[in-house]
Amino acid sequence: MHNIDMDVVEMTLDVMKYAISRITQTSPELGHPKKEEELRRLVGETVTPEGIGGEKAFRLFRDVLVKATVPIDHPRHLAFVPASPTRAAVMFDLVTSASSIHGAYWMEGAGGIYCENEAMKWLVSLTGLPEGAFGVFTSGGTAANLSAMVTAREAWRSVSGEHGRDRGLVITSIGAHSSIKAMAKVIDADVHLVDSEDRLTGRGLRETIGQLSPEQRNRLFAVVATGGTTNAGIIDDLEGIAKVCEKEKLWFHVDAAYGGGALAADSVRHLFCGIEKADSITIDPHKWLFSPYDCGAVIYKNPELAKQAHAQEGSYLDIFKDEGAQGFNPADYQIQLTRRVRGLPLWFSLAMHGTRMYKEAVERGIELAQIAGRLIEEDPDLELVREPSLSCVLYRRKGWAPDDYTNWTYKNHKAGLALVTPTKWKNGDTYETVSRFCFINPDTTEEDIKMILDTMK
Ligand SMILES: *Cc1c(COP(=O)(O)O)cnc(C)c1O
Repeated sequence: MHNIDMDVVEMTLDVMKYAISRITQTSPELGHPKKEEELRRLVGETVTPEGIGGEKAFRLFRDVLVKATVPIDHPRHLAFVPASPTRAAVMFDLVTSASSIHGAYWMEGAGGIYCENEAMKWLVSLTGLPEGAFGVFTSGGTAANLSAMVTAREAWRSVSGEHGRDRGLVITSIGAHSSIKAMAKVIDADVHLVDSEDRLTGRGLRETIGQLSPEQRNRLFAVVATGGTTNAGIIDDLEGIAKVCEKEKLWFHVDAAYGGGALAADSVRHLFCGIEKADSITIDPHKWLFSPYDCGAVIYKNPELAKQAHAQEGSYLDIFKDEGAQGFNPADYQIQLTRRVRGLPLWFSLAMHGTRMYKEAVERGIELAQIAGRLIEEDPDLELVREPSLSCVLYRRKGWAPDDYTNWTYKNHKAGLALVTPTKWKNGDTYETVSRFCFINPDTTEEDIKMILDTMK
């Protein structure tokens, strides 16, 4: 497989040419999905005993298959949480692969893990967590949340000793990301939801705890606050929640998978006050810190607790713990063993550009949300559902029914103009279908926003 022949040289040139042209395209074609049968009809059999050759396989990918994907970095892709990896990070993602580094243990991955840890130090510094706090890069926010919840539950069980068989209970709000509920299933814990999508406050949390039965209170071990809800960019009252958690001796997790990037932005940093009291924090660099997929991060106030929960034992793993291998072992702090050094692209990009550029790029996302808010307010047909928060804007087209939003989304997507999807916002007891922007890409322009809003006429 490693014999270098002319085919490989050609394939390498093709791949590099494509990679370079793709990352220099600021407005790539906005692809959309095709049915599986149609893709099969277009590309035919690709995995055969003899192989179809690199040239053909690559051509099929470039000319057909990649066009059936939506580029997440398109400046008018404002749906879900888009992304906008820096060119430096994308190129270094190729270098990360080419370097074949095993990122579980220092013994094998020292130089790569060193780089990851440099990037991690910056992330930790943004949180304001006390000395000793540290974290690791994960495959994403879901894995980071799971790693934190496992750590929290293990810490809870080990402190009291009496909860060995108790099913844990976690409090969060309905604004929390779906992965909290999903990962609670993985650790077989119950979730008690505070029934408001608006900012969860310390007071609201105290009331919720007060309403639990003694049996429930006995099983309660953690609170998950959100540092920028995925739907609306709302930051919970982290200061107030921290106080309640401290008093009630509960693990305080802040899920800032989407919003965490905004810790770098001076204009909104005060909204995160209290995050420095968290026991654990999730931040996704692949969302608002311009890293390619996939790259999440989990940070712990006391990493030792994570190690107690996650370090794996095995006869063939002992060697990693000997004298020669001393150093930071990422495998000890999250759920994965073999791992890509997925913090490496972020490190290179940070090292190349400096942190100030990150600050400015995040501020631009916040500014774009403000610009969109203003344009919406100026338009008599449109209305803000709530003030823009971080880089999220929820707004309605007066008179539109849910189907109108869906049809509008499909129409713009089909035309290759934009991907903007509807969402729901809970208003009292009812869910209203509304439109939503989420800005990440600093290259999105005011013109882009106008162009999209104009299609709502
Ligand atoms: C996106 C998101 C997640 C899930 O992260 P993945 O990287 O998709 O696994 C979790 N929490 C919040 C708040 C998010 O926005």
